[in-house]
Amino acid sequence: MNIHEYQAKAVLREFGVPVPNGAVAFSPEEAVAAAKELGSKAWVVKAQIHAGGRGKGGGVKLAKTIDDVRAEADTILGMTLVTHQTGPEGRLVRRVYIEEASEIARELYLSCLVDRATSRVAFICSTEGGMDIEEVAAETPEKILTLTVDPASGYSGFHGRKVAYALGLEGDQVKQCVKLIGNLYRAVTEKDASLLEINPLIVTGAGDLVCLDAKMNFDSNALYRHADIFELRDIDEEDPAEVEASRFDLNYVKLDGSIGCMVNGAGLAMATMDIIKLYGSEPANFLDVGGGANKEQVMNAFKIILSDENVEGILVNIFGGIMRCDIIAEGIVAAAKEMSIEVPLVVRLEGTNVDLGKKILNESGLAIIAADDLADAAQKIVAQVKEAA
Ligand code: ADP
Ligand code: MG
Repeated sequence: MNIHEYQAKAVLREFGVPVPNGAVAFSPEEAVAAAKELGSKAWVVKAQIHAGGRGKGGGVKLAKTIDDVRAEADTILGMTLVTHQTGPEGRLVRRVYIEEASEIARELYLSCLVDRATSRVAFICSTEGGMDIEEVAAETPEKILTLTVDPASGYSGFHGRKVAYALGLEGDQVKQCVKLIGNLYRAVTEKDASLLEINPLIVTGAGDLVCLDAKMNFDSNALYRHADIFELRDIDEEDPAEVEASRFDLNYVKLDGSIGCMVNGAGLAMATMDIIKLYGSEPANFLDVGGGANKEQVMNAFKIILSDENVEGILVNIFGGIMRCDIIAEGIVAAAKEMSIEVPLVVRLEGTNVDLGKKILNESGLAIIAADDLADAAQKIVAQVKEAA
């Protein structure tokens, strides 16, 4: 799960991490009130969306007067912000963060993530922070240092000193860095974050370290033990169909293709998407209905698949292991009857009671096309959609 910058900064503040003062605003009036309350000499008005690259897209603006704050908030709120992370359709900005402007001497890069290759928490840092870190990674990767923390011994000062050295920090900054890295490590591990990115981490005019941007992602499987974090969820930032699917315990991810997929089991769902591509088409989604798919689950799944207007055909691919194929077939038939599905529907069943399942599909009187195996199913749905086009 993702959260906004201002929320991530509030979480980090709890761990003693230095972040500038700021307040969130949902209207230009609230932005003005927040700026007055902060009482700094200048402010930065920052679009809050779950995507980076806001500065380059025009979503981060310096304001030198209260009138500037009002004008910038007015422009940014309600704008569709397009960044290299939002895709061409962009993201509607519904909230802005009003933050005191910092004097920047240096912009550094620092992130912390769970590194699957080493099964450890890793810190990544670079002297080349700021808005072009992607180019640094692509063109001069030697300017990026990665350091992992052994979970058995945990964090110790030498990790912080290593980062400080790599970032070219000196004097009191080294002490600040040791403390900062320790606090960030605590924040990541105690809150079950999967990613924390500070870009830029700055050295201020006065020579202090301050986190000027913060992006935090959390492991969804651990949210049950972090009610405070789960409360920060902003469903406006999520795909509406994915939000709907999560209400029904369906694992759904929207994609760009035209063939809707309803599958049980994540592995089988991945294989189904692959084979659709192999036969020359593109999947419209990933959808795992889970092990115990009943009629209601199947109906909800059809609804969600059909809410995507790009869907031109549906492939149902179910392995009846725990579930029996006849029960699944009944669910599909009942759902298809109630919902009047107008696109071609190919169903591949395999497993317990498969013959009875196929019989139920064939005798349903519906235009359901039964398939024998996965390759047959994929070829059939691709052909059906091409024919209809
Ligand atoms: P994004 O990464 O989405 O572009 P950032 O929060 O990193 O957004 O802001 C972009 C740039 O704006 C930063 O690299 C920094 O130069 C500047 N900036 C951001 N916040 C402040 C602030 N509080 N004071 C001064 N400059 C800021
Ligand atoms: Mg940034």
